[in-house]
Amino acid sequence: MQKILIVEDEEKIARFVELELTHEGYSVTKAHEGRKGLELAESGQYDLILLDIMLPGINGIEILRRVRKYSDVPVILLTARDAVMDKVSGLDMGADDYITKPFAIEELLARIRVTLRKHSPEKSESDEVLHCSGITLDTEKHVVAYNGVSVDLTAKEFSLLETLMMNKNIVMSRNTLLENVWGYEYAGETNVVDVYIRYLRQKLDERFHVKLITTVRGVGYVIKDN
Ligand code: CA
Repeated sequence: MQKILIVEDEEKIARFVELELTHEGYSVTKAHEGRKGLELAESGQYDLILLDIMLPGINGIEILRRVRKYSDVPVILLTARDAVMDKVSGLDMGADDYITKPFAIEELLARIRVTLRKHSPEKSESDEVLHCSGITLDTEKHVVAYNGVSVDLTAKEFSLLETLMMNKNIVMSRNTLLENVWGYEYAGETNVVDVYIRYLRQKLDERFHVKLITTVRGVGYVIKDN
């Protein structure tokens, strides 16, 4: 759950935004005063901060200035309609965006989503794409290719290849493959593994004239990374 801090002294606005954000599934903390706001912001536990500028205690621009010394947490400023200078100095100070009060809640929600998305760490390709001896298997997109040539697999074939590739260079027994791909509840024949290995070999080894999946007699199968 993403955590949002609202620093806003107008309690009605803070309460309304809190309700809407909670409804959208965010976890929300409120501060109605600058010092408390700064203290919470400095705790570093928020994914995004909604920051009013005119605050008792310490103003929003000063809070932002202090937070930016060590953190790039996304900050959206809540500004008054005529406070052009506040917007300018806020953006100079490293605010990600601002919204002018009074605002439509839909607009605020949209800006929050965009800002959070910009800050979400990019997934590295290596997390999603398995590589082995020329085969690439994208676990997110469910795409397989051999040296860039795409290979169509059924869901079970994909799952079997994925299991072998995740455990490349390790011999996998038929039972382990069965449990991983078909589940513990599978009541059919264990030779279903052999059948699907044959399908995979037709689509990979035979098609590309290579030896990718190796049978280890009496044990199971292995895909070796060359
Ligand atoms: Ca205010």
